[in-house]
Amino acid sequence: MKPTVFLDRDGTLNHEVGFVTSPAQLAIIPGTRHALQRLHDAGFRLVVVTNQSGIARGLYRESDLAAVHARLHQELDGLIEAYLHCPHHPDGQDGYGGDCPCRKPGPGVLHQARELLAVSFEGGVIIGDSARDLLMARGLPLRTVLVHSGKPAAAEREKLRAAGCTPDHEARDLTAAVDWLLRG
Ligand SMILES: [Mg+2]
Ligand SMILES: [Zn+2]
Repeated sequence: MKPTVFLDRDGTLNHEVGFVTSPAQLAIIPGTRHALQRLHDAGFRLVVVTNQSGIARGLYRESDLAAVHARLHQELDGLIEAYLHCPHHPDGQDGYGGDCPCRKPGPGVLHQARELLAVSFEGGVIIGDSARDLLMARGLPLRTVLVHSGKPAAAEREKLRAAGCTPDHEARDLTAAVDWLLRG
């Protein structure tokens, strides 16, 4: 079974600009498409896992998010197999509030991926710019890479340290993460 790379979105594929409410706010980090192509060619499945609490906060709707992901899919040449998101927030409104199992660092979206896409965790990797991206891998056989292309790395590293988690690798950006991964 093919291994899967689970990718955070904001700060990993596209620049971290706060809430992305429309396709016009998407700015792909240079080198992203080529890095994904290399992973794809090396036999990895590619799945985006993203917290989108802007929906719970009433900043945008599911249909807006779908438009953002349609644009992302187009700009990344269809290399991503699926985009899974958590729309919730503990203080959310309109049925999106309260605790949910899918908001990172919870592992719920990874389990969704396993059920919906029949992905295997074996040999898999999580790449993200936030501590919570990597913490969702706790207890699962996934390697973790912290990229420095989004949130300030020192603060995220400190959160990881406080949680007793050491990334398998840290990289400047997705391109450097893929260099490491494909080096074996
Ligand atoms: Mg991020
Ligand atoms: Zn959720």
